[in-house]
Amino acid sequence: MTHHLNGPAEVVVVGSLNIDLIVHAPRLPRAGETLAGTRFFTDQGGKGANQAVAAARIGARVAMVGRLGRDVHGERLRAALHEDRIDSSAVGTDEAHATGVASIIVAAGGENCIVVVPGANHALLPAHVDAATAVIGAAKVVVLQLEVPMAVVTRTLQIARRAGVATLLNAAPAAPLTADQYASVDWLVVNEGEAADLLGSAVESEAEALAAALALRERGPRHVVLTRGAAGLVHASHEGATRHAAPRVDAVDTTGAGDTFVGALAASLAAGLPPAAALRWGQAAAAIATTRAGTQAAMPLREEVLALLESGAFGGNT
Ligand code: ADP
Repeated sequence: MTHHLNGPAEVVVVGSLNIDLIVHAPRLPRAGETLAGTRFFTDQGGKGANQAVAAARIGARVAMVGRLGRDVHGERLRAALHEDRIDSSAVGTDEAHATGVASIIVAAGGENCIVVVPGANHALLPAHVDAATAVIGAAKVVVLQLEVPMAVVTRTLQIARRAGVATLLNAAPAAPLTADQYASVDWLVVNEGEAADLLGSAVESEAEALAAALALRERGPRHVVLTRGAAGLVHASHEGATRHAAPRVDAVDTTGAGDTFVGALAASLAAGLPPAAALRWGQAAAAIATTRAGTQAAMPLREEVLALLESGAFGGNT
């Protein structure tokens, strides 16, 4: 099932792969209660796999480093990577752990409860990343999230730094980072909640977002992107902090907007676009994804993103 890319991977994603088990119910159950649900479906997920798919749809050659169980969920995730032409040769199969699963209950009002069982994702070790050193070293951008062990994140950042490969860390779910980790990150991407967790203070208003992006940048990353849903994003770099409005679209399902943004941003940086242009590609891809149901199913192809960028629906940035 390994897909051999037509050249070395430009984007390498080191991260999680999950199967999402989604149940819709009239409301969230109380402790001990059995409730009749209205709908059940399963989907591919995990921030790592989602971001790899988003980058591949934009046209980047992508490889993934991760871990699956020897089970039907693992087979399905590997097949999905293959469908999107993502090299899975550095995605190992773990004999001792099941493929990661996210069990999600969605209430009629939109509220949800999620239990994630990381399984094989937490059996990913620094040694597995070491084995992928050549793949990482040949890439343009390495993408990380925080759904795999912190030791894996640390080792990947070290390998990428040594090889002179750009690093993009999506600090989700938020967890404390060391000074070395911050300093090894070229692009730190967080949403408002994650920024608030990292800084220990609320990030809600635009003024707070601008200040938060600058404060996070002081910790070491060269670029900080703070995403703000329909309000767009704030970008902090050596040139200061700038606001970038999101394109106006009719959003129907915003799950996976952040993952689509990260994948498309990584693909655009790997293609050599300057920061402002790469941010626009990320925002356009994420906006399109919110107009469709699902996560990976909603992620757009390069042509669709280009069409939105050229449509004029995307206002100016400040
Ligand atoms: P997360 O999914 O991690 O919570 P956000 O909600 O901040 O992340 O969304 C990430 C990016 O996706 C935003 O910066 C924006 O560019 C885009 N986006 C999200 N929601 C919308 C929306 N309703 N309309 C247009 N773009 C959106």
